[in-house]
Amino acid sequence: HVNVRFDGPTRVFTISNQKGGVGKTTTAVNVASALAELGAKVLVIDLDPQGNASTALGVAHTSDVQSIYDVLVGDAPLAEIVQPSPESSNLFCAPSTIHLAGAEIELVSQVAREHRLRTALNDYLAVHPTDVVIIDCPPSLGLLTINAFTAATEVLIPIQCEYYALEGLSQLLGNIRMIQKHLNPELQLSTILLTMFDGRTRLAQQVAEEVREHFPHEVLDTVIPRSVRVSEAPSFGQTVITYDGQSVGAVAYREAAVEIAGRAMTDNEKGH
Ligand code: ADP
Ligand code: MG
Repeated sequence: HVNVRFDGPTRVFTISNQKGGVGKTTTAVNVASALAELGAKVLVIDLDPQGNASTALGVAHTSDVQSIYDVLVGDAPLAEIVQPSPESSNLFCAPSTIHLAGAEIELVSQVAREHRLRTALNDYLAVHPTDVVIIDCPPSLGLLTINAFTAATEVLIPIQCEYYALEGLSQLLGNIRMIQKHLNPELQLSTILLTMFDGRTRLAQQVAEEVREHFPHEVLDTVIPRSVRVSEAPSFGQTVITYDGQSVGAVAYREAAVEIAGRAMTDNEKGH
């Protein structure tokens, strides 16, 4: 059986890729659920106005619900808007609502506009010890994504094993360097996860090889296969971990979670 511990400082992941439809949200909720199953206390912050992560975690996010919008724009404490997810007693979600769509513009005139999430999260963590925070970002580099980068300790990039997979990646790396320089020197690109992998196609294999060549340390050994069960789960308000725990997608996301958890442990043991 896997033996993982969560005794280090809180790890805050931002799931980033400026492309839409590459598996950001799917990765955020399934890695979160799998880590919770392993015993970690996990908070997912839904920063995408579409609210797909909130849906997949079975958390209410209609327009009358208090959401991360009220935290970023209205100064509500994060603790006030966080909801438990029915997925697991270890799993919590700060939902997004459609109001968040206006936040990109409303934030422009706010004081400390790049640090709002970081400040709110630090206040929350001081009272609610949490092992892992996972921030699901919209597919753009606006103030919401910049808030996520500023609050995070690690970046996780999901890469879809398809044409143009690497397109936009150098821009993303440039953005990360810019954030490191000006807003968050501690931010690390720690993890790359290959998603929607179809082993039957040569193309998917070529993309995987190319990404591994460029990022030998960051790419997880685990690859997430393309699987209908993964895409069905959200319509039941569930992750695939709960929806069909024996399916190939659930097994793969569990393995990815074990790798992610294990990497922090190795670093701690090295004394980093
Ligand atoms: P993003 O958040 O980057 O826009 P999503 O996670 O929403 O991407 O994924 C885009 C679409 O692909 C969704 O319909 C999702 O259900 C589907 N999808 C994601 N991962 C898989 C997978 N491993 N197998 C099959 N479908 C997937
Ligand atoms: Mg998404």
